[in-house]
Amino acid sequence: MLVIFNKTDDRSVRELLARHGAPRSAVSCRIGARVIAYLPQADAGLAARFKTLRQVERVVTAHGSEFQLTSREASPEDTLVEIGFGNSIGAGDFGLIAGPCAVETREQLASTAEIARAGGATALRGGAYKPRTTPYAFQGLGLPGLRMLAEVSAETGLPVVTEVVDTATVDTVAEYADVLQIGTRNAQNFSLLAAVGQTGRPVLLKRGFGCTVSEWLSAAEYVLAQGNSQVILCERGIRTFEGSTRFTLDLSAIPVVKQLSHLPVIVDPSHGTGHRHLVRPLALAAAAVGADGLLLDIHTDGEQALCDGKQALDAAEWMELTSALSALLGSLGRTLQRPQELAGIGSGL
Ligand code: PEP
Ligand code: MN
Repeated sequence: MLVIFNKTDDRSVRELLARHGAPRSAVSCRIGARVIAYLPQADAGLAARFKTLRQVERVVTAHGSEFQLTSREASPEDTLVEIGFGNSIGAGDFGLIAGPCAVETREQLASTAEIARAGGATALRGGAYKPRTTPYAFQGLGLPGLRMLAEVSAETGLPVVTEVVDTATVDTVAEYADVLQIGTRNAQNFSLLAAVGQTGRPVLLKRGFGCTVSEWLSAAEYVLAQGNSQVILCERGIRTFEGSTRFTLDLSAIPVVKQLSHLPVIVDPSHGTGHRHLVRPLALAAAAVGADGLLLDIHTDGEQALCDGKQALDAAEWMELTSALSALLGSLGRTLQRPQELAGIGSGL
């Protein structure tokens, strides 16, 4: 049973739940203007009792979704996720998060961030902890990489999106990052999902490459069940029999998720295809099917990149793509977001 509270705070909701006999397993989460509670195994008597409370707007006793707080039934309006420096993802405008796959050097990160910003990115991506398929590949710079991200963020006014790969480093990453990314290989690491939920930081949750849409939304539910509704979903391709692309980018999942959930959903055409020349067409297609934005790999020297260089756009390709996106979105009645200005910083776009 979902109980939608109106004009009340999280603490009063917890008190109301306890006072009116909700099971101890009940969870609650602020989503937009309301606090929503999910009460597992609630009976008709409990539903009737909550319906009479003046703080309760609505009670949903049965709905079609396998997930609860993540569902449209919990919150019909699109959720806006605040990612830092006045920028946000969701609720209409199209947002770009761009940067290198991995943080390599201070210079590489700073120059890539400038290019990202010039093209209109509202956040900088870059992994300091990299989940690599083989232990012999570059594993990321770790803590020094996080420090570089924080420094370049302060210089450019771009919030940082970076991956957290295990529960042991959640607090460290949360200290430096604006948005915590959960990668495809950790998409069903339930203790990690709960741990990032507890930080209260926005979370960018990649779809597991072997996950159904329902499993992906249930993974998001782990974050919301901790009281954190600031989740951006990211489609990044699933494993199929097809070998001509690195993964199969499931763009049909975008309108499916939009119908089922209030959370924003973006697309990563870089990891989804694995090839630079496929990024542009799939990025435009993602905008056309209604995604809320893109997560993109860009690099000043893709051939020399320590990670995923083959799928990274160079500066010219990136700038061309952003103007094509802007035109396409305009024709669809939508707009490409521009980064918010930080006093005295930035290129004045
Ligand atoms: C990434 O975005 O850096 C990444 C590792 O992506 P994924 O988890 O989708 O493979
Ligand atoms: Mn990568």
